[in-house]
Amino acid sequence: MSTSNDFAPPRPLIDPLQRSISYLRVSVTDRCNLRCVYCMPEQGVPFVPHQEILTLEEMTRIIRVAAGMGLRRVRLTGGEPLVRKGVVNLVRWIAQTPGIEDISLTTNGMILASYAHELAAAGLKRVSVSLDTLRPQRFQQITRRGDLSAVMAGIAAARDAGLSPLKLNVVIMREVNDDEIVEIARTTLEEDWQVRFIELMPFMDEQETCIRDTSRPLDFIPSQEVKRQIEEALGPLEAAETSTGGGPAKYYRLPGAQGLIGFISPLSEAQFCATCNRMRLTADGKIRPCLLTDQEVNLKETLRRGGSDDELRQRILKALDSKPDAHHLGDGNRPKWRKMAQIGG
Ligand code: SAM
Ligand code: SF4
Repeated sequence: MSTSNDFAPPRPLIDPLQRSISYLRVSVTDRCNLRCVYCMPEQGVPFVPHQEILTLEEMTRIIRVAAGMGLRRVRLTGGEPLVRKGVVNLVRWIAQTPGIEDISLTTNGMILASYAHELAAAGLKRVSVSLDTLRPQRFQQITRRGDLSAVMAGIAAARDAGLSPLKLNVVIMREVNDDEIVEIARTTLEEDWQVRFIELMPFMDEQETCIRDTSRPLDFIPSQEVKRQIEEALGPLEAAETSTGGGPAKYYRLPGAQGLIGFISPLSEAQFCATCNRMRLTADGKIRPCLLTDQEVNLKETLRRGGSDDELRQRILKALDSKPDAHHLGDGNRPKWRKMAQIGG
């Protein structure tokens, strides 16, 4: 089995639409310690058996091969990445990979307090923490088993460990947490956080997304409406640039604020996919050129039959060539085989 990485790619990671793909989101596990209403059904999803999940060494090899083709940034996600045993080692190995300039991690924050310092020492640069409410009881309802104080401790530990800037991911749902939009936006006046309001994507069946005690299915709110509410209450937002992430968020700042307010608008922004720079690796070893469509290419099969680095490169290019122009959520088409936590959100 060849493990050479000659660092002279046969073809860089540029898709047929000339989008340059420098960013890989890696789902390190499909398991999670929470059951957020918009992401997982209360009873969970059938988890992939352990032997079908890529080993950390296999993930590192894929990243090394992709780095030789132009991959520069990696984000670890899941499921909940911090429940995967050995995740700190994975961060260390990725940090040591030639070509990789940035490693970040998206977490629900529940056990971040125990890991923040170790992760930073291993080479992690930043974390995004998902937090849809600042109210403990509501947090418990949305996540079905979360503890807001543990997440706040995680955020404090991340700051202490120098994992900065902190991004907060906030999924806004009508009549669930939309009454907190202004309150959450206001935190950026004092905190140097990047608060990102994310449009709810329809990943689940209606009956799976009901909040306990109501039978109401979840409803998304377009970013324009969220922005309007913030501006009406707190004044005009100024457009802002950020050097971190290169992701789909459009950033703004309240006058004089320490932090930023971002909007991620997969549903309402017509050009959302035009600047997409990412692919995803699922925990069971499939490379997915798009979160929101079902194409995937099996890398685990190549790895486990002893395929060469060159074969892996060809498989990665195959996925790249099938990257769709745009998602079709607006026409009612959503990923059929997998939930968000199984792809890596
Ligand atoms: N468990 C980690 C967490 O919650 O941060 C990482 C995985 S989670 C799938 C990644 C992100 O996807 C979270 O910020 C979560 O809020 C977001 N997400 C999950 N389901 C979503 C949905 N249906 N619409 C929009 N965002 C969603
Ligand atoms: Fe778990 Fe994250 Fe999905 Fe919530 S959003 S259920 S924390 S994977």
